[in-house]
Amino acid sequence: MTTIDIDALKRKYAEEREKRLRPDGNDQYVQLKDQLAHYLDDPYTPYTERAPKTDHVTVAFIGGGFAGLVTCAYIKQAGVDDVRIVEKGGDFGGTWYWNRYPGAMCDTASFVYMPLLEETGHMPTEKYAHAPEILEHSRRIAKHFDLYDNSLLHTEVTDLEWDEARSVWIVRTNRGDEFTAQFVGMGLGPLHVPKLPGIPGITDFKGHSFHTSRWDYDYTGGDPTGAPMDKLADKRVAIIGTGATAVQCIPPLAEACGELFVFQRTPSSVDVRGNRPTDPDWFAEIATPGWQRRWLENFTATQSGIVMPEQDLVMDGWTDLARRIREKIMQLPPDNLTPESMMAAFEESDFEKMSEIRARVDAIVEDPATADRLKAWYRQLCKRPCFHDEYLQAFNRPNTHLVDTDGKGVERITERGVVVAGVEYEVDCIIYASGFEVGTAFTRRAGFDIIGRDGLKLSEAWADGMVTMHGVHVHGFPNMFMVQVAQGANLISNVPHNFTEAGQTIATIVRHAVDLGAQEVEVTEEAQAGWMDLLYSAPRIGTIGSPDCTPGYYNNEGQPGAVDWFLGYPGGAMAYFTYLDQWRNSGDFKGLEFR
Ligand code: NDP
Repeated sequence: MTTIDIDALKRKYAEEREKRLRPDGNDQYVQLKDQLAHYLDDPYTPYTERAPKTDHVTVAFIGGGFAGLVTCAYIKQAGVDDVRIVEKGGDFGGTWYWNRYPGAMCDTASFVYMPLLEETGHMPTEKYAHAPEILEHSRRIAKHFDLYDNSLLHTEVTDLEWDEARSVWIVRTNRGDEFTAQFVGMGLGPLHVPKLPGIPGITDFKGHSFHTSRWDYDYTGGDPTGAPMDKLADKRVAIIGTGATAVQCIPPLAEACGELFVFQRTPSSVDVRGNRPTDPDWFAEIATPGWQRRWLENFTATQSGIVMPEQDLVMDGWTDLARRIREKIMQLPPDNLTPESMMAAFEESDFEKMSEIRARVDAIVEDPATADRLKAWYRQLCKRPCFHDEYLQAFNRPNTHLVDTDGKGVERITERGVVVAGVEYEVDCIIYASGFEVGTAFTRRAGFDIIGRDGLKLSEAWADGMVTMHGVHVHGFPNMFMVQVAQGANLISNVPHNFTEAGQTIATIVRHAVDLGAQEVEVTEEAQAGWMDLLYSAPRIGTIGSPDCTPGYYNNEGQPGAVDWFLGYPGGAMAYFTYLDQWRNSGDFKGLEFR
């Protein structure tokens, strides 16, 4: 029996959404160029000179994060050795290269999040690994699969063009390279271009400022492993944003700063973390051959499988949510298992979960007014769920001040500080925890357009939205593979599982093409259209990307157009992986043409 007043909650959610909704959508953010370009500088690795490359490789992969590392590892395992990763960072790691802010850790259990653990023989030291360990693991993968030598780091692709006569891609970069590749893979990451809020006066501030993905330890003191940020003891610091990044870096900031002002527009939902060190004896017991695949499939099946696994191996906030929804649905009378009744059951379990999360705020935060402002009024998957055991506690410190903007955002930035509701908060430093570009055009985020067959540009092919088969193949762009989550499994709770499956599939396709002596592989127009029809055929029952949600990057800031990004296989992630496994192992690669 629920004691929740669902109608009242729905009204409250709608009111809060209304406050936050803005007609300018993604245009409220500013691109980091011209006067703001310095926010992109790499504070971690100095650039080194090198001679431009003008050679040929079998496979070039753009992006050296998990997508590139995993795909190239499988390609190498398949016996194709001639592989080159092009990466804009000074080392491998992608998001974990850039995000070295204090307190950074992974919100997904390391046993399923960190790929290729079995192959590299690494035991994660904690249930939720901290960022330095994940960055080191990225390097470990690159070393293990011998990816360093042929790769180009600190290098950005500027042009990618299909050469019809030679059936190769021409890759040009900002380091003067112009080389060719038979196959090109792309794992650019959905969250790799930092954005700043377009707050009036943002360039006027005379103090210090940086984005969380370019943390300035020279200014703050400390380091990513947790050394105290001793240079902040006498500083007044503002942090703008309270998303998943801010939730992790606010506790160490609260400890270090003279005064910390947290500028909030929408509160995050912050559930229990429950991190703990890995017991090596326990790990030795579970790490029998094939263990990581079993864990991956268990985590994914727990959330999306038709049959719930008997045991939930990971047991965390993600699987808890899935279990609750399923239990609610199981309570429905068998003759009432309609999509509507299932949606209502899903919604009810969400209301219960969010009520518990709000009650947690009251239990932890001592000042009732601050506690009230830290409560999230939306469905849990409207925004990225957060998990932390020190975030809410930070607001009990006398030096930590929550400045809530009632859904409106910061009003202005001046030479001296940050203005909200007409009050100026003078600070020495502003830290932007304002996230990354998601809803902007693919070509803007990539930094280049792709010119495919007959001069067709990807920006033209996707003018009306993203169109692929499996989220990987695009008609008109032979020998090109995208590695990302949309239009395939769309599993956001464990993004690397998408990569593991895509990587194995791409490796199989490349091996097959090489064995056949095929020059080209391309998805047919019919197969691509059929795949898109399949994706659109199923009713959309999830919350992610819903226009009813409070605005954010999950739903294109409340504007139309989010649907293609969060479109996934109708049967769910586990069904997709099962389908893909059969598709790649059947040997006919239905929908692809090898020529
Ligand atoms: P987000 O986009 O989630 O958060 C940006 C924050 O800035 C929001 O709180 C936003 O408010 C706020 N903001 C934007 N404009 C203004 C303004 N004008 N005034 C005040 N506040 C403003 O970025 P994050 O970097 O926090 O997270 C991005 C993603 O990275 C996460 O969603 C997650 O997927 C990933 N991540 C993953 C982690 C992991 O453990 N694996 C850890 C950290 C991040 P509003 O909500 O109202 O838009």
